[in-house]
Amino acid sequence: MSDVTTKWVYNFGAEANEGRAGMKNLLGGKGANLAEMASIGLPVPPGFTITTEVCTAFNSAGRHYPADLQAQVTDALARVEDAVGLTFGDPAKPLLVSVRSGARVSMPGMMDTVLNLGLNDETVRGLVSASGDARFAWDSYRRFIQMFGSVVLGVDHHRFEEIIEQAKIDAGVVEDTALTAAQWQEVVAEYLLLVETETGKPFPQSPEDQLWRAIGAVFGSWMNQRAITYRRLHDIPADWGTAVNVQAMVFGNRGADCATGVCFTRDPSTGEDVFYGEFLVNAQGEDVVAGIRTPQPLSQARAKPGEVSMEQALPAAYAELLTVREKLEQHYKDMQDIEFTVQSNKLYMLQTRNGKRTATAALRIAVEMAESGLITRDEALMRVNPAALDQLLHPMLNPDAPRTLLSRGLPASPGAASGIVVFSADEAEMRAQKGEAVILVRVETSPEDIHGMHAARGILTTRGGMTSHAAVVARGMGRPCVSGAGGVAVDYGTQTLSAGGRMVRAGEAITIDGATGEVFIGYVQMIEPKVSGHFGTMMGWADAVRTLKVRSNAETPLDAETAKKFGAEGIGLCRTEHMFFDPERIGAVRQMIMAGDEDGRRKAVAKLLPFQRGDFISLFRIMAGLPVTIRLLDPPLHEFLPHGDQELAEIAAALGVDFATIQRRAADLSEANPMLGHRGCRLGITYPEIYEMQAQAIFEAALAVAAETGAAPVPEIMIPLVGAPRELEITRALVDKAAAAVFADKGQSIAYQVGTMIELPRAALLADRIAKSADFFSFGTNDLTQTVYGLSRDDAGKFLPHYVDNGIYEKDPFVSLDRDGVGLLVQMAAEKGRQTKPGLKLGICGEHGGDPSSIAFCQEAGLDYVSCSPYRVPVARLAAAQAAIGNRVDRTS
Ligand code: ADP
Ligand code: MG
Ligand code: MG
Repeated sequence: MSDVTTKWVYNFGAEANEGRAGMKNLLGGKGANLAEMASIGLPVPPGFTITTEVCTAFNSAGRHYPADLQAQVTDALARVEDAVGLTFGDPAKPLLVSVRSGARVSMPGMMDTVLNLGLNDETVRGLVSASGDARFAWDSYRRFIQMFGSVVLGVDHHRFEEIIEQAKIDAGVVEDTALTAAQWQEVVAEYLLLVETETGKPFPQSPEDQLWRAIGAVFGSWMNQRAITYRRLHDIPADWGTAVNVQAMVFGNRGADCATGVCFTRDPSTGEDVFYGEFLVNAQGEDVVAGIRTPQPLSQARAKPGEVSMEQALPAAYAELLTVREKLEQHYKDMQDIEFTVQSNKLYMLQTRNGKRTATAALRIAVEMAESGLITRDEALMRVNPAALDQLLHPMLNPDAPRTLLSRGLPASPGAASGIVVFSADEAEMRAQKGEAVILVRVETSPEDIHGMHAARGILTTRGGMTSHAAVVARGMGRPCVSGAGGVAVDYGTQTLSAGGRMVRAGEAITIDGATGEVFIGYVQMIEPKVSGHFGTMMGWADAVRTLKVRSNAETPLDAETAKKFGAEGIGLCRTEHMFFDPERIGAVRQMIMAGDEDGRRKAVAKLLPFQRGDFISLFRIMAGLPVTIRLLDPPLHEFLPHGDQELAEIAAALGVDFATIQRRAADLSEANPMLGHRGCRLGITYPEIYEMQAQAIFEAALAVAAETGAAPVPEIMIPLVGAPRELEITRALVDKAAAAVFADKGQSIAYQVGTMIELPRAALLADRIAKSADFFSFGTNDLTQTVYGLSRDDAGKFLPHYVDNGIYEKDPFVSLDRDGVGLLVQMAAEKGRQTKPGLKLGICGEHGGDPSSIAFCQEAGLDYVSCSPYRVPVARLAAAQAAIGNRVDRTS
């Protein structure tokens, strides 16, 4: 690290302006943007940035700096002194600086900024005479002691505030600004005493010493626990390091013609193209956000009665700020989050960065910037995080609907949901599989609860904040969530929750509003979200560039309608078993499974035929000529087996056999490992009458809808869990035969396709042979992931988080498709399949079909479509557009 040629320090704003926005890795976001602003002629107080490389060196070399750092800092400081005509530590004309941390991405947990560094008992007097304003000078000194004392020396900041409070009481004033120079001077004396008692040493008086200790504190803070935790949660590598910015002070606390403020170039919550921000006269640094006084609006148009806008109070600086706003947006081509200070009517820029925004704002800003020609449509498409769209699309509570408030928690994940209360993840999953809407209620959630959170419509926790496990996971899944509802008491033992003297039992309904944090008793009427015109515009642009088609997984008419409304181009997966849990049907399904012979099965199956036909008729009607992929019965049979003697007795009676026989059959059917047992096409092969009935229902429904609407449905019949070419051959023949029979019977025919899921490794390996009987492949990446990893999704919760945290698996493979393993098989199967049949249609219908990074993979693998849950259809449309743009960029660069 003693390489003498390394440049550790970069000046900005002085004569030399050595950094650029593109140098964020080296200079951190703040430093790079300060240099960029200075380079485009904006008024930035001069300063310098010590690079992130110094941080890395410092923390890995036992807190030692590179040998020549000191000389480079001294040199850089001298340039700043020249630029402003002041000298660091000079009692007559003291230069004061701020010391600011700044990593590549803004990161809570890093050291707070220290302002007014360079003040001591002597320079403060220099500042009094240089400024002619004693109040300002002593106010600055007390701010410095407080910041340095708490941030660098670790003195509890409350201790400082207590002293100010007392001073204000003694002086009989309410606001800090009302304290006089003499009163601040007294506060300073008490501060110095406090620091000395707390630390056992006098407050450091040497500016040089102050500077190096503040720099060391910034670098040290990179390794503090808060920062480490934040990095772990956000996948930020420790070796990125932070930069340190040292910058000449400008003073917003020097009287009525001074101010400090923060603003966004557009409204960050709606995206509206208005100047949005706040300022405070005669204030410094973070007074605006600290809430010491009430900040005032920038523009007069936004001022309420009694407020004094910046436009009114500081018209010249305001006009300049408007110009800067324009210039920054033109330059960065994005909405900016800005910090500024006004000293004696002159504006200074202290920070800019791309502003954080809501999903609504992101959409609007991207669309409007593209429409005004500031960015291209492709850029606009790349600007919006597809996952965030999800939040815009959830139903909301009808504001006019009656409701009974039970309690309130934190608005942890947007959207509203109603359902019956369940207290465990397993229960949530079990009931959801039966088609019930549930709200999972837990004291707090943990990774073992993921399956239940996924199955639930919404999640309520009584403990934990906005970044609790429940909140983070729910947002990621797009599930509404209210967290930390401390007023709700959950009793797992009695299976009840209570709040304010009211009680709700398991199985009773509640409604949560994840946007407000409210919890209601019973059901509250919902309305569909109002989707803005910007959303439609963005989706239109996405559709124009994407090459992947987007379908939806849907089996109920409601799901199909939702999917269609969100732009689905067909159904990619209709799971027929979900149609069998209905109370009217489950009896017949159980009879079908439990019947001792084919005859018995046929009788039961015949009862199901009209139901199935009805199901398909509604789906075909809704999808109006779009393709509908129907998967024939797939699940492990145990999901349908009767529970308990009562249900067994009912089946026995229906089948006309005695109880002992039915008990024996139930025992025979139970499997050690149902997921790998008698399921999928193995069922259809051993019990062909089931698939025959389903095929017959599909074709009869298709002909009926074709006759009724004139729009011929396009059924795609999908055979699950194929692992041997012969399995598809047999089941395909069975479907073709059923088709022929129906067509002969009705005297009409219709085009259809038969294909298979590729969800077993063997199917991928033998894809060229399987393709001979297939018109399409649909990658069932849920089961494919389970079988490739030899990992049961339901049991993974116990160790998967550990694996992901420790980098053993890069990501949860059930959320983001594993390119290295599962992806390799998908690619191979796609190629092999198309060797046999060049026109073979390829799709994906696992959970991954709605995950943006997995969608990018599907684009690269040459798939024709992705299929995802209805609410994720817009997410997938945008992600597919981004994948198409990304592909184009990759190929041309
Ligand atoms: P954060 O990252 O927490 O925003 P900053 O380094 O941006 O911390 O600084 C905190 C506050 O101090 C901001 O309001 C900023 O504008 C102000 N500030 C920083 N440096 C200076 C300076 N040289 N002169 C005046 N105010 C400054
Ligand atoms: Mg801060
Ligand atoms: Mg800042």
